[in-house]
Amino acid sequence: MAYDTDVFVVGGGPAGLAAAIAARAHGLGVIVADGAKPPITKACGEGLLPEGLKALGELGVELRGTDGCAFRGIRFEDERASVSASFPGGMGLGIRREILHQRMIERSEDLRVGLLWNTPVTGLWKEGVVAAGNKIRARWVIGADGGRSRVRWWSGLESPAPRRRRFAFRVHYRLAPWSEFTEVHWGKEAQAYVTGIAEQEVCIVLISNRRDTRFHETLAGFPKLAHRLKGAVQSSAERGAVTGMFEQKEVYRGSVALVGDASGSVDAITGEGLSLSFRQAAALADALAEGDLRRYHTAHRRLFRRPRIVGNLLLLLDRRSSLRERTMRALEATPQLFERVLAYHVGETRPLELTAASAAFGWRFLTA
Ligand SMILES: Cc1cc2nc3c(=O)[nH]c(=O)nc-3n(C[C@H](O)[C@H](O)[C@H](O)COP(=O)(O)OP(=O)(O)OC[C@H]3O[C@@H](n4cnc5c(N)ncnc54)[C@H](O)[C@@H]3O)c2cc1C
Repeated sequence: MAYDTDVFVVGGGPAGLAAAIAARAHGLGVIVADGAKPPITKACGEGLLPEGLKALGELGVELRGTDGCAFRGIRFEDERASVSASFPGGMGLGIRREILHQRMIERSEDLRVGLLWNTPVTGLWKEGVVAAGNKIRARWVIGADGGRSRVRWWSGLESPAPRRRRFAFRVHYRLAPWSEFTEVHWGKEAQAYVTGIAEQEVCIVLISNRRDTRFHETLAGFPKLAHRLKGAVQSSAERGAVTGMFEQKEVYRGSVALVGDASGSVDAITGEGLSLSFRQAAALADALAEGDLRRYHTAHRRLFRRPRIVGNLLLLLDRRSSLRERTMRALEATPQLFERVLAYHVGETRPLELTAASAAFGWRFLTA
């Protein structure tokens, strides 16, 4: 059968572009269609963990010196305690979504990926996709159309897994980042997540369990942070999103595969979604090149395991404030454990090493 393209990617967000770049690097012909047109943004904490940056480098995406703001680790703060840890190897990067997107487009163009903007995909058919009213034949279809994926639905991959949804808002402020760390402020019913993204700009995300939450009301629950932001000019409109942990049992069917948020997501508090998407994209392209999507299924499960563990742990601290307060005090007294946890989070230590370090923490926790 004559195909119009080897791979058709539905969705030109970070996961779709990463998959397109990786597939193209294997010599496959690739077309990407997105219903929107650049600059495309989204409510996001805009922090890339070191492994995400590494994956981006492996895709050949070149970032410029002024594109973002490096951070060396993560700081947790609540009303009474503060604990921080540096990444064991390399730095993370805060970067505006529009800039990240632009750099990924540049790489895609260099590789001659076909990019169709303002082109919503409206359905699948047995030989490919329907885009802007045209039937396009593709050997493989990739659904990279985000958390509310239609491709997932059309291909029969939608799973009825229960989702615990949380509600998030993102706002930018024109203000010099005050910390070398990405900060997670823990409040009673919400978290605030702060990332420096430029010499004079910070990104603030507030995440709460309440649907009726609003940015400025929730911010008032973080007096230290609200004080820092006082008088600073807001440099973007408030933008909302839903986040949560959601795992897909199956990530492919026939010649259709899902990647990025379409294939499952981790709560925004992990700061992991982009990094995970880039690694999934590389694994998916390898599987396409081998012509065997079962390999992708196996890799996807493996890649999802660690973010799932970390995400569930953080959400437990969100639900149980007394547990969180004791944990914070104990971590403050055992900062080396926080370093180990962070090293595990970014894939630089194994669970066994984490368990050994936890023994010391156990005693601190009981006496906190
Ligand atoms: C509040 C919040 C904060 C976050 N913070 C971080 C963070 O700090 N670090 C991190 O790594 N991750 C973070 N994440 C996660 C991260 O934003 C996502 O994992 C990432 O955006 C997933 O990319 P994606 O390409 O899968 O989906 P998306 O970014 O949603 O892109 C999907 C694309 O598909 C297009 N599309 C949809 N339907 C169609 C269609 N029918 N036809 C054509 N195109 C279509 C859309 O226009 C869009 O461009 C955060 C998420 C949230 C909600």
